[in-house]
Amino acid sequence: MTLTSEDTALDPDLLLDGVHLIGGDWVPARSGQTIDVVNPANRAVLARVPRGGAEDVDAAVAAAEGALPAWRDLDAASRGRHLFAWADLIDAHGAELDELERQEMGRPSWGPPRMGGQLRYTAGLADKVQGQSLPTFSPDALALTLREPYGVVGVIIPWNAPGPQFVMEVGAAIAAGNTIVVKPAEDAPLTPLALAKLALEAGIPPGVINVVTGYGAEAGAAVPSHPKIRRVGFTGSPVTGRAVMEACAKNLTPLHLELGGKSPQVVFPDADLEAAVPQMTFSITLNTGQVCAAGSRIVVHRSVHAELVDRLAAQMQQVTVGPWHRPVAMGPLINATQHERVLGYIDVGKESGAELVVGGGVPRGDGLADGFFVEPTLFDKVDPASRIAQEEIFGPVLSVIPVDDEEEALAVANGTEYGLVASVWTRDVGTAVRMSRRLQAGQVGVNSVLGAPAIGAPWGGYKSSGFGRTMGADAVLEWTQVKTVSLRDAAPPGR
Ligand code: NAD
Repeated sequence: MTLTSEDTALDPDLLLDGVHLIGGDWVPARSGQTIDVVNPANRAVLARVPRGGAEDVDAAVAAAEGALPAWRDLDAASRGRHLFAWADLIDAHGAELDELERQEMGRPSWGPPRMGGQLRYTAGLADKVQGQSLPTFSPDALALTLREPYGVVGVIIPWNAPGPQFVMEVGAAIAAGNTIVVKPAEDAPLTPLALAKLALEAGIPPGVINVVTGYGAEAGAAVPSHPKIRRVGFTGSPVTGRAVMEACAKNLTPLHLELGGKSPQVVFPDADLEAAVPQMTFSITLNTGQVCAAGSRIVVHRSVHAELVDRLAAQMQQVTVGPWHRPVAMGPLINATQHERVLGYIDVGKESGAELVVGGGVPRGDGLADGFFVEPTLFDKVDPASRIAQEEIFGPVLSVIPVDDEEEALAVANGTEYGLVASVWTRDVGTAVRMSRRLQAGQVGVNSVLGAPAIGAPWGGYKSSGFGRTMGADAVLEWTQVKTVSLRDAAPPGR
């Protein structure tokens, strides 16, 4: 079934059909082929995007190279002003962008998008990229460092938050003076394309932002292997992250990786369960659990284990499931593969001896038959070594693991290959301090989930969750390289 933009109330000006962006031109793929973009709540085709490949990436790199000198040499305050203008247009089209992202994700509304604010923070950093003055061994010399852009850079993003991920990576890279080629995910490329259109309208020159749509093995693989792409940012699964890093290694291209998570929530006997349980439920059901930071493991002291499981069960049973246009809490999974994968993990959990407390199946009901829906699922008494406790499921599946003391809690919490986010639920300052220091994660939340609710917090992983930081003040610096300049007086007085 194909829906028109009118049927789906999508803004026709922001629905790019059959074209991607190279050097300011909206063009089809060189191959002429397209990929259907499908709403996973009802399988309606929203639009088609070009099935780009290496040739398209090559053309985009050439366009980015052409735009580089003028953009790099534009004064930093003016670059920042362009980004502020882009942020204003994003806010002005907030409702339309949200509708687009909701339909390509099938998800319910989360209120006004925060992308404009996120971009303004980055825009304000454009003219604060600065080097240092250095002490010298001689009074007739000066030395300083410059922070310079890499040049043409490449970014690959996933489908689970296509708008914010596009704005976050592109904003930081171009604020630093780079020009960019972006490969969005094949499942959710429409919001990135719409955002790129608004960037052009905001006056960001053609060629500064190029977007090549397509599959990972084709357009995606062409980005890290391109010899003229001088730095890469990748967000996605650890498996693909390794492939991207291997491709970068061939050209010695530096990169940062934002990968998966299996984030623990450690619950102490003094935790405020009434406050914790709604947040824990939110953390695993937001975006149908397709969140890198999802708090997917509850590591709970045995003395409050039974009460916590009762409360979690009651809360998770109240989570409403349905398509994007209903006032529900949770939409579908992104596609058939992800649906099979999550249901497969639920089977693995049942077979592992864990106790299934809530969910575990596909919800039935009006309007659910064509979507990739799954029930919010709670497993108790999960073996910390079992697959559902170790592997990222990327679905609304929560595992509860009871422990006897703080040391065991730490061992379990730190006992996976991941290290993205960790939460601690306690009223005791000493416990909070010890756990904050000893948990192996890029973000630790005390009595909070999904990482810090801070403005400008750097974001990134420990261990196999990746390296490098996006967001925050560090993000723009990630897209710069340091040059040391020394100046000497060729003829100092008295020589
Ligand atoms: P994925 O790795 O399958 O795909 C991510 C992107 O990589 C897509 O654009 C895809 O087309 C592309 N790709 C696939 N194969 C490629 C290849 N060989 N070369 C180059 N590019 C290729 O991941 P996904 O399923 O889209 O996203 C889910 C994963 O992303 C989860 O593991 C999740 O935790 C992670 N994620 C991490 C963060 C973070 O900030 N740490 C944020 C969001 C998502």
